[in-house]
Amino acid sequence: MDADVVVIGGGYTGMWAAWHLLDSGARVALLEARVCGHGPSGRNGGFCESMWRRAADIRDRFGDAPARALLDASSAAVSAVGDWCRSHDVDVWFDQSGYICVSTAPAFDAVGGRAARAAAALGSPERVVELSPAGVRARCSSPVFRGGVLIPDFATVQPARLALGLRRRLVSRGAHLFEHSSVRALRGGPGGVVAETAAGRVRARSAVLAVGPAARGVRALRSRLSVTSSHIVLTEPVPDVLAELGWAGGECITDSRTLVHYFRTTRDGRILFGWGGGRLAYGARLDRRVEADGAVAARVRADLVRVFPALRTRRVTHAWGGPIDVSPSRIPQLGTLPGAPVHFAFGYTGNGVGPSHLAGRVLAGLALDRRDEATRLPIVDSGPGAVVPPEPLAWLGGSAVRSALIRRERAEERGRRADPVTKAVCRAPRALGMHVGR
Ligand SMILES: Cc1cc2nc3c(=O)[nH]c(=O)nc-3n(C[C@H](O)[C@H](O)[C@H](O)COP(=O)(O)OP(=O)(O)OC[C@H]3O[C@@H](n4cnc5c(N)ncnc54)[C@H](O)[C@@H]3O)c2cc1C
Repeated sequence: MDADVVVIGGGYTGMWAAWHLLDSGARVALLEARVCGHGPSGRNGGFCESMWRRAADIRDRFGDAPARALLDASSAAVSAVGDWCRSHDVDVWFDQSGYICVSTAPAFDAVGGRAARAAAALGSPERVVELSPAGVRARCSSPVFRGGVLIPDFATVQPARLALGLRRRLVSRGAHLFEHSSVRALRGGPGGVVAETAAGRVRARSAVLAVGPAARGVRALRSRLSVTSSHIVLTEPVPDVLAELGWAGGECITDSRTLVHYFRTTRDGRILFGWGGGRLAYGARLDRRVEADGAVAARVRADLVRVFPALRTRRVTHAWGGPIDVSPSRIPQLGTLPGAPVHFAFGYTGNGVGPSHLAGRVLAGLALDRRDEATRLPIVDSGPGAVVPPEPLAWLGGSAVRSALIRRERAEERGRRADPVTKAVCRAPRALGMHVGR
């Protein structure tokens, strides 16, 4: 078939891009390998984030005015998700109650303050507000919490409801949506593109490549990302524990580690608890332990009890995982492949629920060659920040750094220092120009 734009990938990025394209009257064909929302978009932690937590790094990388534009656009994207759900009658349990980044050890105490100082320097101290230990405990009283920062514009969503709601509205609006249609070849030149699946092909003027972690399998993008994994456990309803913790405000919370723990409440009184420290994928192999890793899930359950000891005797009813597309700068990458009208977005580094709305808007603008303030944001065409080495180096090096980070952060949580070798391995990515958090 023919279309104006072919969108490859039915996660949030591809579906928001399709939505914005339909706004401009374009004919859109969306090709999804499985079903829309099958990837991380349908099973994430549901933190719908602005980018203010990364304000210091974003300011360092892009300078004040471009950083400010990007951060404001990321805040607007969170509100836009909520507005879209309200105006299209899609109930994703959107709850804009803010986010707390909390320190759980002296070694992590400085993390939130960096973001708060950057927000103040950009003229918006209200975007990242420092909280004393008492201020944190007034919102959620875990014995391991110290001080932190509050970022008021974060929301939470039920991720699958958002993915399936978007899918439903796209279909009713006239997007041509083909599921179980894995694109196995994408050919492009100045005149247009052809996307090929086992069953057929779509010809279009341009393409949006929104395949998430599968971007690691695209030759032109391979050295621009690595893939790790994140795992989540979900408790049975524990309203009594939530009452004991005083966690009634709906805030989503993370600690300040590099291998971050993230946790939130749900509408039916459960605690969702995740960890971004799962194993690395080898190249573009996204199966097995990147998708679901029993050993990592058991560890996440133990970490849950360390943070919330009252859950020791409570049941975990669900556990799952999924791949994370990690950008060397930890900042999403948006741009256009050389020599072909193929526009991409990936590299959310575990923080794509809010930013994918913004990316969808940018991709629609690029695909239609309509430049506006979104396509001029500094993340567009900014490059990866550093190059991911080829395999097996990436996997060997990345796995060594992961193990060292686990050792170091475990030691720091116990008030100890890691050994010098561990510390040196943790610093290695910086020598290659990569950011690994904090
Ligand atoms: C366990 C977990 C928890 C997370 N928690 C959070 C969170 O709380 N907050 C947050 O902001 N982010 C979180 N994330 C990250 C977030 O889910 C992603 O950043 C976001 O969903 C990215 O959306 P996407 O559309 O770019 O990618 P995806 O959701 O990966 O979608 C890409 C789609 O492309 C399809 N595809 C791949 N290859 C092809 C092909 N060749 N042809 C056709 N289709 C193809 C895939 O099947 C998939 O459906 C989490 C991720 C995981 C795994």
